[in-house]
Amino acid sequence: MNATIPVIADPAVTRRILNAFGLRARKRLGQNFLVDASVVRGIVDAAELTAGDTVLEIGPGIGTLTQGLAETGARVVAVEVDRKLPAVLAQTLRGYDNVTVVPGDILKIDIPETLKLENGERFKVVANLPYYITTPIIMTLLEQRLPIERLVTMVQKEVAMRMTARPGTKDYGALSVAVQYFTAPRMVTDVPPRAFRPAPEVTSAVVSCVVRETPGALPADEKLFFRLIRAAFGQRRKTLLNALTAAGLTKDAIRAALAAAEIGENARGEQLSLEAFARLSDAVGALHAQT
Ligand code: SAM
Repeated sequence: MNATIPVIADPAVTRRILNAFGLRARKRLGQNFLVDASVVRGIVDAAELTAGDTVLEIGPGIGTLTQGLAETGARVVAVEVDRKLPAVLAQTLRGYDNVTVVPGDILKIDIPETLKLENGERFKVVANLPYYITTPIIMTLLEQRLPIERLVTMVQKEVAMRMTARPGTKDYGALSVAVQYFTAPRMVTDVPPRAFRPAPEVTSAVVSCVVRETPGALPADEKLFFRLIRAAFGQRRKTLLNALTAAGLTKDAIRAALAAAEIGENARGEQLSLEAFARLSDAVGALHAQT
């Protein structure tokens, strides 16, 4: 613990910082600042950081979680889109020489270049995400196939349920398949609205996703696999026989592919495991190859 700097994750300290800089939380940027030190500790613990790690934090805000990350001795690179905040962070995190604040939009910056990774180095992502762009951020990070080891994120509980949902449950959908294709996700803990200022309207949750060395299924054509998944969940109440027409397939082709993949004609996307989707995708691919 850096003795000269107060713990930011505290309602009074947060209020003092916001007042001192004449700031108000900007709803448009999803600003809900953590004020509970035990939640910060829980997130940092879930990341299992060591001094040799590089960690990318998305949206450091006034430095609440950043401080917890910095205390582990890891190299922290924090990307913040709000142009007013780097000056605040220079004050609140003074004394931590292992933190670099980078102004920018996480969806637009070149992440490997920003992190200046050594050859072959992997990194961790830790964030209390802005809720208005949670899914685009998670998908952008995963689809880029960056050398990420682990992703620990605070998200809305409803999103956390979807990320970790198993086939056959009501929360299982395109996000579940995509997250579980790239990672092994685990629900860490629920976080109540009172842990934030301002308090959001919904309960939040921390999810830890360990990135897989090889994907959770091995379709021959990954693009086709994800195209079918989008179609299958685009109209989730429809059977696959009907829903997959949105992927540009005829009903005859779908029927043939379902039979080849040993999936019933009345099945819905929500019932299919990653492996079943991969089988289906390969069956569709084989049909295309024949025509
Ligand atoms: N980490 C702080 C905490 O835990 O108290 C703040 C978390 S707050 C929920 C989300 C943060 O993400 C805000 O600081 C917001 O300005 C920032 N943010 C929003 N959109 C962003 C983007 N596209 N790129 C980078 N940061 C963003």
